Amino acid sequence: MKIGILSRNSKLYSTSRLLEAAAQRGHDVEVVDYARTHMNIAAHNPSIFIGDKELNGFDAVIPRIGASYTFFGTAVVRQFEMMGTYSVNESVAISRSRDKLRSLQLLARKGVGLPVTGFARDPKATKDLIKLAGGAPLVVKLLEGTQGVGVVLAETSKAAESVIEAFRGLDANILVQEFIKEAGGADIRCFVIGDKVVASMKRQGKEGEFRSNLHRGGSASIVRITPEERTTAVRAAKVMGLNVAGVDLLRSNHGPVIMEVNSSPGLEGVEKATEKDVAGKVIEFIEKNAKEGKTRTRGKG
Ligand code: ADP
Repeated sequence: MKIGILSRNSKLYSTSRLLEAAAQRGHDVEVVDYARTHMNIAAHNPSIFIGDKELNGFDAVIPRIGASYTFFGTAVVRQFEMMGTYSVNESVAISRSRDKLRSLQLLARKGVGLPVTGFARDPKATKDLIKLAGGAPLVVKLLEGTQGVGVVLAETSKAAESVIEAFRGLDANILVQEFIKEAGGADIRCFVIGDKVVASMKRQGKEGEFRSNLHRGGSASIVRITPEERTTAVRAAKVMGLNVAGVDLLRSNHGPVIMEVNSSPGLEGVEKATEKDVAGKVIEFIEKNAKEGKTRTRGKG
């Protein structure tokens, strides 16, 4: 098969592993720097180019769209879909998962476990939001944050009010969330492919840190997950419409609760912690599922 990896940088661990795994399995594979493409969107035959070179003949693409390129990147994926190319994660699903608020609402609608979470705009609602989240300690989150930036633990109601007011003053959208203390600064990353969790790891925040992000000095180790955690992770990916997803969950007193569903999950942490060939499994999934026109939405919004 001819496979395109939509990535800005072929030297990134995840990109180079996917490249290697696809080549090893005998595919014709190339990295497409999607940010450098231009598209003929209104034509009868939708097309994509980099400079003079037309990008055609791809049987499948693997989108690895960076958070700051979501708008343009999903347009490129949509264009491939319109051309009949199979995308392992569809453009609509990627857009959906990049909107934290929308994701939580969709997951809630399907009854997937979540921390109690509130959202408001009016400053007068601050006290009600704090009450809704069960009072302090609670977590205040910037909707636009990634890698743990803009996730604040407020130990008292007064601190929570100040943080909420400060974020509001900056015109930022925030979520107020119940603090899952019993998670002990750890979360579980489940790597989902299709209807399976193919690898999972526990990430533990460094001493004194409630955020487990590896970018914030957390450490990863292999973990055995429970059947309930497995089903929750697979359901969360399914609700988002993602075939490949990194589902983050916390172990709470009321069962597993979802933090986030990531549409371009990194491979480095999970492959190193579990010693599994996750990249190979992504390619294997594509081999089984990629057929022309099989992308469900075919570029439809
Ligand atoms: P980001 O998307 O920026 O990584 P998250 O919402 O995933 O932000 O939060 C970062 C980390 O902070 C999580 O992985 C988790 O360890 C911790 N965390 C976030 N929300 C809560 C919460 N409600 N209770 C306990 N810990 C939390």
